[in-house]
Amino acid sequence: MLKAIYPGSFDPVTNGHLDVIKRSAKIVDELIVGVLNNNAKSPLFSVEERVNMLKEVTKDINNVRIVPFAGLLIEFAKEQGAALVIRGLRAITDFEYELQMSQTNHKLDPSIETMFLTTSIEYSYLSSTTVKEIAVFGGDVSQFVPEIVAVQLEQKMKLKGECDKHE
Ligand code: ADP
Repeated sequence: MLKAIYPGSFDPVTNGHLDVIKRSAKIVDELIVGVLNNNAKSPLFSVEERVNMLKEVTKDINNVRIVPFAGLLIEFAKEQGAALVIRGLRAITDFEYELQMSQTNHKLDPSIETMFLTTSIEYSYLSSTTVKEIAVFGGDVSQFVPEIVAVQLEQKMKLKGECDKHE
């Protein structure tokens, strides 16, 4: 049985992530989407919010599980019994970081392999950061993220706006 981990921050999940999830789920028997719980990155959404959004948007894909994790990816992979890590590659700018990560993980644990899926062309420009930047300025993000994510982003921005007013 081929089990793989697709790790990331998913802050929030975009149509680009979802595309990688759908395509990977067709290749492997079980896909574990690992949601990184790293407060040093100051995420907009809590890990619970990110996990819940991912669960909602993948609920129709039978072999996908959403699991939060903290710490070393190779430890998480071992714990889950997965020897394969999947990452998405958008532009050449992703390459250096991804190469370094995959080689480091392989050095730490040679039984772990990383497989890259190149982005579908229509999502090659898309990142969670860009989506958040658009949302901050009240722009329409509905073509970049699933509908429930767009709604949650709008609510989060309203809440943030109210908090900022009171500061
Ligand atoms: P991280 O913080 O680990 O970079 P992200 O949530 O930003 O996590 O991304 C997780 C993975 O998804 C990374 O491998 C990233 O390259 C990939 N990814 C992000 N956006 C896209 C996209 N539009 N198309 C394909 N892959 C993507």
